[in-house]
Amino acid sequence: MSDRNSRTPSPSKSGSNSGSRSPGPRPSSRLSPSGGIRSPGLTIPEPRDGFYGYSDEKTLRHIEEKVWVNRRTSSSHADAARPQISPAILSSDPFETCHARDLNNISAMHPVTANVQEAPSLPSVSISKSPPAQPEQKAPLAIPAELVNADFSHILESFRKCLALRDKYISVSCQRLGDNPRDHDGIFKGFNGDIADVSGVRPDVDVTRQDLHREADQFAPWLIRPRPPPPHWHWSPTREMVSRPDGTVRTESDDEIETDMQNPPGLDGDNWDFEIDDRGVFQVHTDVHAENKKPVFEIPTIREYFMDLDYVLSVIADGPSKSFAFRRLQYLSGKFTMHTMVNEFQELASMKQVPHRDFYNVRKVDTHVHHSSSMNQKHLLRFIKSKMKRSPNDVVIFRDDRELTLAQVFESLHLTAYDLSIDTLDMHAHQDSFHRFDKFNLKYNPVGESRLREIFLKTDNFIKGRYLAELTKEVMTDLEQSKYQNCEWRLSIYGRKEDEWDKLARWVVNNKLYSHNVRWLIQIPRLYDVYKQNNLVKTFEDIVRNIFKPLFEVTRDPSSHPELHEFLKRVIGFDTVDDESKTERRYHKKFPYPRLWDYEQSPPYSYWIYYVFANMVSLNKWRQKRGFNTFVLRPHSGEAGDTDHLTSAFLTSHSISHGILLRKVPALQYFFYLKQIGIAMSPLSNNALFLAYERNPLPEFFKTGLNISLSTDDPLQFHFTKEPLLEEYSVAAHILKLPQSSLCELARNSVIQSGFEMQVKRHWIGQHWYLPGALGNDINKTNVPNVRLKYRHDTLIEELALIGAIQQKVV
Ligand SMILES: [Zn+2]
Repeated sequence: MSDRNSRTPSPSKSGSNSGSRSPGPRPSSRLSPSGGIRSPGLTIPEPRDGFYGYSDEKTLRHIEEKVWVNRRTSSSHADAARPQISPAILSSDPFETCHARDLNNISAMHPVTANVQEAPSLPSVSISKSPPAQPEQKAPLAIPAELVNADFSHILESFRKCLALRDKYISVSCQRLGDNPRDHDGIFKGFNGDIADVSGVRPDVDVTRQDLHREADQFAPWLIRPRPPPPHWHWSPTREMVSRPDGTVRTESDDEIETDMQNPPGLDGDNWDFEIDDRGVFQVHTDVHAENKKPVFEIPTIREYFMDLDYVLSVIADGPSKSFAFRRLQYLSGKFTMHTMVNEFQELASMKQVPHRDFYNVRKVDTHVHHSSSMNQKHLLRFIKSKMKRSPNDVVIFRDDRELTLAQVFESLHLTAYDLSIDTLDMHAHQDSFHRFDKFNLKYNPVGESRLREIFLKTDNFIKGRYLAELTKEVMTDLEQSKYQNCEWRLSIYGRKEDEWDKLARWVVNNKLYSHNVRWLIQIPRLYDVYKQNNLVKTFEDIVRNIFKPLFEVTRDPSSHPELHEFLKRVIGFDTVDDESKTERRYHKKFPYPRLWDYEQSPPYSYWIYYVFANMVSLNKWRQKRGFNTFVLRPHSGEAGDTDHLTSAFLTSHSISHGILLRKVPALQYFFYLKQIGIAMSPLSNNALFLAYERNPLPEFFKTGLNISLSTDDPLQFHFTKEPLLEEYSVAAHILKLPQSSLCELARNSVIQSGFEMQVKRHWIGQHWYLPGALGNDINKTNVPNVRLKYRHDTLIEELALIGAIQQKVV
């Protein structure tokens, strides 16, 4: 069953994603032909695809310094169009003044006087509007400050536009908090106005205003079945009890899964119908047979998407923008170091004051893990051995025109239960898989035998996935016993056939694979070329149809696929997976629509993302109308490959997995920071495949303030212990020297990024977790010091103010 396990072996391209990159087939149009935001006289190595090479990162500052020095000493180097810049203007550098101001803020954050309840102050930095040069400055300016700032104002404007583009795609696709009926638990009723982002209230919103929440709820309270277990400790029962919104008590029947096929009352959309249009997107109509029919919902077209994508790519590839972002990121990282030095002891003291809570009993969610490798190797080995001992006569597979029992299968492999060990199983990826995704894929086969994978690790096989279901239940039991560790498992939908959804849903529902600790995501392997080779599909549209048609059918009429309807209640969203380091050639200037895509090659990443996104938008809008839960897009992105992977994810996705290549794209990394886009990082997985642990950007990202969580990716291949998530945290704590406060912050981030229901998140991390900064924190639950979150929020607000992206007044 597979995640990336069915990714095709691809020829080795080791090294293709590290160090200097070849220019590749990127069209030159992405380099902003207008050239508006380029500063003359400053030559920064331009790798054409937005990446900095590893060494470029280091030398960038030297190059810039050289340019400035030359300008000071001689005007011959300066562009004729630009007047010479005197040292005086250097001292009025907007960044320098800003740095000074920020440092003042830090020193104001003295541990003794720091008051976390104090409202964050709005910094008066406004570079784009008013020039920093003041009349009382002593040194006369050689040129008007407006001229110096012209470059920056253009950069800042382009940054603001990029952020606005993301907002457009996120709001149209119903991915913000409150858009999903599942977010509504009877207490949380949604927000008034445009103040929500994907994981809570926007950071620049005045949270003291009275009309933050809606008065009336448009959705019925979402009921979680089976109900979450009640809290074990009742240290503050009135506020902390997880009680049902209507005040009823827990009953026996709560634990039963009942299938509710009724449409929620008072919501429309039940007479509507759908069809796929000639651009490969499913559209919802009030009447599909009408002559002048118009889709009910507006969806960004592929042309619009590629134009927006090109715009963002041109901004992040522009030299001065990169340089600007690079400096801001360095500054942010340094500022965090300063914060730790000043506040370390206060953070520690406030954590010590919290009763009961410590790192082990704060909730953690494994935000990125593939279901078929969710168990560790020892577990799988034990399971295989027990099956060989206890049920050797199970008929498990149909091969070579006959049915084979488990004993016969092992006979044909010349293996006995006694022979099996971790070494013969050979599924760990450590020594030989670095930069070899093809070899990594083969690691999914126990003992290197595809038939063992077929028997033990597939949901759709001769035994209808019975063994995998039993194994899954065992892993679920382990999780429930550990209580504080939770998972978001990825299951595959390939798009080869239309009945894949029904089979998968039946596997989950019939085997009762429900757990308080587990939610599901659907991963779509990008394997068009493989299916095309095997004549399983004719055009790309076949894949779009196979993936989305059943979802529209079940939305129109839940009784058409009862198990699927039930399963979807526990599905959070979509992921897409494959070897990102495969080269993508751009054969076409303009991409053809899916019905015309009958080539041998798979479409590029950005094209896949668009079609998953666009169809998800249509589906979400209809499901929201019907009161059914909606989905989010959380793709694998930036593990390897081109810059446009991360850029298309930036525009369209709720959050991403991996993102390690952001280290080479400073401007995009800055955008990820400003929008606080969740990144589920897996340094142990990277260590085995693409990037050595000590070079992993996680510590730098964390210091900068990106929204990072830790995840395992594939415990079967990478981890040794029974608690892979704790292993991941443990290694990070050792190697990166993360203190308890940072580990707890990572754990809190993971809950926020996850797709668990509002009611559950309230119980785990605090009643108002969606409010920004310390206001959203409940240290009794998260064990994260308020000082830390106040620092994160203040810093973010300052950056937003710096680029002029504050929309609302902050109190
Ligand atoms: Zn993964």
